[in-house]
Amino acid sequence: MPPATTTPARQEKSAPQRAMEKLGLVRDIDLALHLPLRYEDETKLTAIADLRDGMTAQVEGIITECQVQFRPRRQLVVKLNDGGDELFLRFLHFYPNHQKTLAAGNRVRVRGEARGGFFGLEMVHPGFKGVDEETPLATALTPVYPTSASLPQAYLRKAVASGLKRADLSELVPPALLPRGSWALKEALNFLHHPAPDVSLATLEDKTHPAWQRLKFEELLAQQISQLEAKNERALQRAPRFAVQRGGLQERLLAALPFALTSAQHRVVEEIAQDLQREIPMHRLLQGDVGSGKTVVAALAAAIAMHNGWQCALMAPTEILAEQHFRKLVQWLEPLGIQTAWLTGSRKGKGRREMLARVASGEAQLVVGTHAVIQDEVQFAKLGLAIIDEQHRFGVAQRLALREKLQAQSLEPHLLMMSATPIPRTLAMTLFADLDISTIDELPPGRTPIVTKVFSDAKRDNVIATIADEAARGRQVYWVCPLIEESEKLDLQNATATHEQLSAALAGHHVGLLHGRMPAADKTAVMDQFKAGAMQVLVSTTVIEVGVDVPNASLMVIEHAERFGLSQLHQLRGRVGRGSVASVCVLLYTSPLSDTGKSRLKAMAETQDGFEIARRDLEIRGPGEFLGARQSGAPLLRFADLNEDAHLVPPARAAAERWLASEPQRARQHVARWLGSKAEYLKA
Ligand code: ADP
Ligand code: MG
Repeated sequence: MPPATTTPARQEKSAPQRAMEKLGLVRDIDLALHLPLRYEDETKLTAIADLRDGMTAQVEGIITECQVQFRPRRQLVVKLNDGGDELFLRFLHFYPNHQKTLAAGNRVRVRGEARGGFFGLEMVHPGFKGVDEETPLATALTPVYPTSASLPQAYLRKAVASGLKRADLSELVPPALLPRGSWALKEALNFLHHPAPDVSLATLEDKTHPAWQRLKFEELLAQQISQLEAKNERALQRAPRFAVQRGGLQERLLAALPFALTSAQHRVVEEIAQDLQREIPMHRLLQGDVGSGKTVVAALAAAIAMHNGWQCALMAPTEILAEQHFRKLVQWLEPLGIQTAWLTGSRKGKGRREMLARVASGEAQLVVGTHAVIQDEVQFAKLGLAIIDEQHRFGVAQRLALREKLQAQSLEPHLLMMSATPIPRTLAMTLFADLDISTIDELPPGRTPIVTKVFSDAKRDNVIATIADEAARGRQVYWVCPLIEESEKLDLQNATATHEQLSAALAGHHVGLLHGRMPAADKTAVMDQFKAGAMQVLVSTTVIEVGVDVPNASLMVIEHAERFGLSQLHQLRGRVGRGSVASVCVLLYTSPLSDTGKSRLKAMAETQDGFEIARRDLEIRGPGEFLGARQSGAPLLRFADLNEDAHLVPPARAAAERWLASEPQRARQHVARWLGSKAEYLKA
């Protein structure tokens, strides 16, 4: 790769240069791969007489009038005549040099959208340039690039054009690996930057054009190679090898459980056990719908590690969730003689120091806590297995930090990540190509399906009456308050007001309140009361989103359901229907609700399949938001769209495997071309 053509370090960089760097436009190839968002057609002129309201077009003529008017705002009003008809141009912001170019008698070429104005057809703030009769029209469509405020389009256009000329666009990918009929890279890039005027703009805009297909394939290929490389690198690392023995801790735990595993649970435990018996670090994602029973699978994996004399860490995103896990694991494992430790941010002072010491000495075999605490502060004597719950909240950077911390011990720990947000297969293949995936696709028996109902907020009183009925029958109810992302304070006000309203309406019942700002001890106290059945209604902000397990809860009301993502609603809904009683989830929305809003909530009522919901969610929101931008890798996929281009993923994957096996150097060159310095990050 030739060195980047940037200015020498000591020379001041101009604002546009700095802006280009921010956009990652450093090397010639970066510029060549910076593709247009859309195009403007400056290859033809339209006669003013042919302009219609709403039409975007280019016209050329002589200025007949140029005046600053006050009507009522100060503005520049220009009259243009093309020999046939007249067009008004209006500028609300203008500078002296604009007035110079637009002076009466000058010939100008103007491009903009025609609108029916007060005086007839006009263009407001059109693009314009002074021309003479000889000035040629553009021969290709004019690209419009994604840019930022401090980087003018014209500057970027020039930079891209010259980057494109200089960049080495030789074919790296062996033709046999390309989909049949692929365009050459150079041809595709030249075309996309400067398409011929007769091309169908629709195929360019929806990126179905063969030139786009080639680039998307290139991009996915780079991504797949870099992930496969990460996987191969991991295969060179060493992890402790665990023996799975008859009569071992794992079997004793299994025998002590109050239920039999589902066959799906058996299968995934077996997959994990296979990994743990190898000296290559496990890197597995365990996905299973809410309530599918992932915790016990985690406990069985931990049992294997601990039986072999290694420590195990289990991390959860919130204290409540960590505590839930902790209690369950203690209940299962302490009778079998396992020493546990419990660590979260709110645990301070002497108790904390003692815990840390027990972990450092190896006395505590199982350590449960929040992600942050375990990563930042805990030293392990002998960590063999790290289990991370709700992996979708766990960023790439955090995964890296965890690995680095544990590398101090020459061996890598095995890693098990768990997620209740099922990741559709193509997305998993694309973004987590270096992860092995186990899926629990079956719920434990005896669950009654949850009935989901969608009501307008106008029915609030009826809903409250239903709550009273449920409470009278000894059942428990969750009321989830709206999520207002901008303001935790507003969340709180809302939850507090609802709490008051329900307390008043449900006199004689205990209505509790749980929110993110409460001290951990108070949260625990509230949860304890709810779990023990001493509280009938729990009003809560989204802190109960994951993992809370109260089988007697039979009704959940979600207020402002339209503000939640589908997967989030599904997670929330999974808090009920955990016991044998018939459960109901009420989604309250506030009118007016858009059509998409309605169909989204309808989808929730129609299906209980987490995968189906995840798929619809992905369609509606796109992968970045779906997974949380942090770890979605979305900025790394600029062109390929995981919905529309799913068909390109398997061939890209296959090509990556073949290429890495046959020509690893060249395959890496391809990655460097596409990802540059981002490749490392992607491997995390
Ligand atoms: P999740 O996958 O959402 O984390 P949990 O691990 O919390 O699910 O399990 C949900 C509930 O189902 C828990 O009460 C758990 O003890 C119970 N459970 C798990 N596996 C089984 C099973 N095979 N049979 C019956 N109940 C089970
Ligand atoms: Mg769970």
